Amino acid sequence: SQRVVIIGAGIVGTNLADELVSRGWKNITIVEQGPLSLPGGSTSHAPGLVYQTNPSKTMTLFAKYTVEKLSSLYKDGENCFNALGGLEVATSPERLEEIKRKHGYAQSWGIESHLITPEECVNRHHLLNKDLILGGLFIPSDGLALAARATQILIESTRNAGVSYREHTVVTGIEQAAGHVTGVTTNNGSIPADIIVSCAGFWGVEIGKMIGLKVPLLPLGHQYVKTTPVPCLMGREVNKNINAKNAELPILRHQDQDLYYREHGEQIGIGYYGHRPMPIDAGSLGVTPKNVSDKNMPSRLEFTPEDFAPAWKASKELLPALRETEIADGFNGIFSFTPDGGSVVGQAPNLDGFFVAEAVWVTHSAGVARAVAEVLTEGRSRIDMAECELTRFEEVQLSTEYVSKTSQQNFVEIYDIIHPLAPKENPRNLRLSPFHARQREQGAFFLEVGGWERPHWYETNANLVNILPQEWRPVDRDAWSSKFYSPIAAAEAWKTRNAVAMYDMTTFHRFEIAGPGAVHLLQRLTTSDVTKQPGSITHTLLLNAHGGIISDVFVSRINDDLFQVGANTATDLAYLAREARRQQKHMPGQWAHVRDVTGGTCCLGVWGPRARDVIRDVTLDDFSNKSLPYMSLKKISLAGIPVTMFRKSFVGEHGWEIQTTPEYGQRLWDLLWHSGKPHGLVPAGRAAFNGLRIEKGIRTSGSDMSSEHNAWEAGVAYAIQMNKSIEFVGKAALESLSRKTSAHRLRCLTINDGRSMVLGKEPVFYNGKAAGYVTTAAFGYTVRKPVAYAWLPGNAREGESVEIEYFGKKIKATVTADPLYDPQDSRLHS
Ligand code: FAD
Repeated sequence: SQRVVIIGAGIVGTNLADELVSRGWKNITIVEQGPLSLPGGSTSHAPGLVYQTNPSKTMTLFAKYTVEKLSSLYKDGENCFNALGGLEVATSPERLEEIKRKHGYAQSWGIESHLITPEECVNRHHLLNKDLILGGLFIPSDGLALAARATQILIESTRNAGVSYREHTVVTGIEQAAGHVTGVTTNNGSIPADIIVSCAGFWGVEIGKMIGLKVPLLPLGHQYVKTTPVPCLMGREVNKNINAKNAELPILRHQDQDLYYREHGEQIGIGYYGHRPMPIDAGSLGVTPKNVSDKNMPSRLEFTPEDFAPAWKASKELLPALRETEIADGFNGIFSFTPDGGSVVGQAPNLDGFFVAEAVWVTHSAGVARAVAEVLTEGRSRIDMAECELTRFEEVQLSTEYVSKTSQQNFVEIYDIIHPLAPKENPRNLRLSPFHARQREQGAFFLEVGGWERPHWYETNANLVNILPQEWRPVDRDAWSSKFYSPIAAAEAWKTRNAVAMYDMTTFHRFEIAGPGAVHLLQRLTTSDVTKQPGSITHTLLLNAHGGIISDVFVSRINDDLFQVGANTATDLAYLAREARRQQKHMPGQWAHVRDVTGGTCCLGVWGPRARDVIRDVTLDDFSNKSLPYMSLKKISLAGIPVTMFRKSFVGEHGWEIQTTPEYGQRLWDLLWHSGKPHGLVPAGRAAFNGLRIEKGIRTSGSDMSSEHNAWEAGVAYAIQMNKSIEFVGKAALESLSRKTSAHRLRCLTINDGRSMVLGKEPVFYNGKAAGYVTTAAFGYTVRKPVAYAWLPGNAREGESVEIEYFGKKIKATVTADPLYDPQDSRLHS
């Protein structure tokens, strides 16, 4: 097998070695700067609380696997996981609601979970002050990971299986040739490698610098203390168990005060996130000592008691027994935070064969390690990795300033109640489309995505709400789904369906693929035949070799050797660029250059039954159905502005995405605005867009479907041309998948009462059992009821009833044939 070098013998690196060994890989070396007996990274002192439930399905499944794996790692008759259960208590009405939402996530992702009363909380954790508690969430399979012990067991077992370990060896450089890694340089010489995986924890930034890779994580200090013995915990049998299984109370979170707790025999350990962020430069920590000890390790900084004062006060209130104790010992431990709270895992975009698996908690460690091992050995992870992909960030999000600011913010908000639509407050206004000034004049309400400011609705349309026909009037919403929402969206949707509206599409990713190898590249990577004549647009899929959906993209053929790809993420860009490089290596004449042109272009979607009238007034060029049919493009001039008209639509109405370069942007806006006004044109935002999209049945990559799903299950088989001349990535897998009946299918649900909103990720009950989850949801303005897409068992039939659990309440819905709006596409072709 290939020669693998893993940097770092923490919980991630050692798990990765184990996962590779169990898949039959040999030639693995782990390089660790510290002593193997206690390497001195974050793992060496992690208290190891494992709360599995997370809004992210990926992270939850990683945690679930970590629990399974650590539970099966035995030495001397003891495993490495203490399944004490995980308790989160609510001490405020808002938190009580929040734990209901979390209970929903647990059910969506298949984790047993219980909402419990204050009495039950105290029964489970007898140190709790019942007077403070309004309720709790209890997850029986949560508990304590014995991370340092697991690391030692894994070192021993993988070493026996042939993994080579180099301790006290510091990686100082990465060797490469022709864009691929060839080895690592260390203080003890070079080690050759075909694959390098950096599992260096918070030192990841330093390793990244060696190859010019910005690893978007920030090392931060985090306080952890142990109390003196708690009188009521003394003298128990459990305290005699020295194997760190010296605990019997569930692990405990008091998120309203940024606190968590575990037992250490007679003592209580307290972790605190309420203090000021304490950023650390890993490069300045100096050399790891030869003799790392519990008290002397690079990841452990001096305790600052003044920062802990509020935590100590709140702890004595929540756990009155602590009033009889003191703080025995404390430290500021270092670990990684990222701009969005997710881990950073995957292959470097700029160096083939170089991978990272960093900003990974103990909680997710084995899951992440398994995913990386699957990527290396099979070319994909069974659990979708988009949410932790190293390449998911936009360039602007990789700057040191951005990473620092947003990661600190994540530390501050780690236990806060955050609405799924809530934007970052800071930094903002990083990327502005050329329409921005006009959008502000129109009272746009902006949310942030990928650094862009994206309008969600326009206050200048508020007056339209009052004149909406009765059947278009927005229905009242509950407080949670009313956040970051305005009834103005209903008016903008109404205008789109009945007149014309203008949407800023600038924030969508646009890549250019140019060169003699462009056709071959796209033929190989997409599921459709893109060799159509210049001027055609194809909606197609990028699959992995196992038939899983990486992304859905629009491929527009501009001329013979030039394509524009409308894609979803920065990860799509990294993938296309890497594949282009590989192609050139193997077929030098077939080179193709992949370039991000998102910021070098701008785009307005003009859609609605009167869209044609708006354009007719400003051009002499032919844009008739014949000259510019649905799914085609054409360069024309609009009152002297050079534009490309892409005849496609995300909202299900006739119209175009009109693209130009930013210097013409404001003129284009003004032109369309003035020309459109007599025809009823309004600017419209993302809120209306989402509702129109969903009732037209258009799936969103990443939310509705991912690499865990295939095209048949996701209902996007229309984007597949099995008979195309060239073997495309994923074709062989699709052939066998098409013969199987899917265990799950993405289904459209309509809400029976016509008003109850859900937002996504809620569990769906089928035949009384939690059997699936909502992917995306929105109010379907034209069909006049909320609509949700959900993964459900393959046997769920149209017309059947299901229930969606939202904040603990069941909402009735019906499995419905889709698309709900214009299934014949007559509006698009009109
Ligand atoms: P590490 O354990 O840091 O391992 C990285 C290794 O790489 C180190 O051993 C380091 O020496 C080595 N290395 C770095 N650079 C080089 C180089 N150039 N050459 C050679 N070797 C190198 N997580 C939870 O899930 N639950 C918790 O309750 C929890 N509590 C925490 C409490 C505190 C106080 C802290 C600080 C962290 C806590 N964490 C918790 C987080 C968790 O400890 C870490 O996320 C996790 O241990 C990271 O594991 P790792 O293997 O990625 O990194």
